[in-house]
Amino acid sequence: MLQIKKNNIQGLPGYEIKIMEKKVSIQDLLDELNLFFEEGSLERLWPEGQQSCYGCDLCCHEPLPLTSIDVRNICQAQGINLTDAYKYLWVEAKENVIDITLRRTRAGRCIFLQPDSTCSIYKNRPFLCQTYICCHTTPQIEELRSQVVNMGMDELIRASILAFSSAGQALPLNRSHNARVNIKDWGKNKFTGKNNYSNILLKDVLSSDLFKHMLL
Ligand code: SF4
Ligand code: SF4
Repeated sequence: MLQIKKNNIQGLPGYEIKIMEKKVSIQDLLDELNLFFEEGSLERLWPEGQQSCYGCDLCCHEPLPLTSIDVRNICQAQGINLTDAYKYLWVEAKENVIDITLRRTRAGRCIFLQPDSTCSIYKNRPFLCQTYICCHTTPQIEELRSQVVNMGMDELIRASILAFSSAGQALPLNRSHNARVNIKDWGKNKFTGKNNYSNILLKDVLSSDLFKHMLL
C-alpha cells in the first residue's frame, strides 16, 4: 500500500514515502511508519548516539496540534468524554483562528511526558507524534502531516464547540485576542463522524496535487 524507504534528501540521510494504492488510510500510513521507525536503521539528526526514541524526550517540548481522532483516542484511553479532555488541551484563539494543542507544563514538557522521559499514552499518541522522527524528510511528507492535522483540527474545533454548547458552555479559551468562536465557521469535513484513522483515506484529506505527487 505504501513504500517507505531511506533516501538522501538534498544529500543528507532521510526517508521518503510513496503511496502505491488509492485506498490507503491514515492508519495504514501510521502502521507502516511505526514499523519503519522501529526498525531503527535511520540515521538520526539529533540527539547524537540515540539508538531509539525510548527514553528520549527531546521532541516532546513543542506545541503539538491535534486532530479530532487524536483527542478521541485520548478520551478512550482515559475513559473520559470530549469536554473532560480539555484538562489535557490548550486552546488559543485570535479573531476567528483557533489552535488546539496538547497542554504543557510550565517547564514546557508535554503533559503526557513521564519523569523517566517516556510517553504515558504511547499507544494512543497523536498523529504528529507518530509521524515525526528526527531525520530529514521530503517537503511532501511535511505537507502531508500539515494537511492531515489542519483538517483534523477543524473537525476537533467543530465537534468541541457543539459538545460544550450541548452542556450550556462555551469552548474554553486559554489565551485569546479578539476571539470570535462561531460554529458557522467550522463546516463538516472528511474527519466528521469518523472514529479512527482506519476510516479516513489519505486521498480524501490531501490536496489532489500532493496525492498525485506521492502516488507511485
Ligand atoms: S524522534 Fe524525538 S524522541 Fe525520538 S530520538 Fe529523535 S528527538 Fe528523541
Ligand atoms: S503525547 Fe507522548 S510522544 Fe507526544 S509529545 Fe506528548 S509525551 Fe511526547
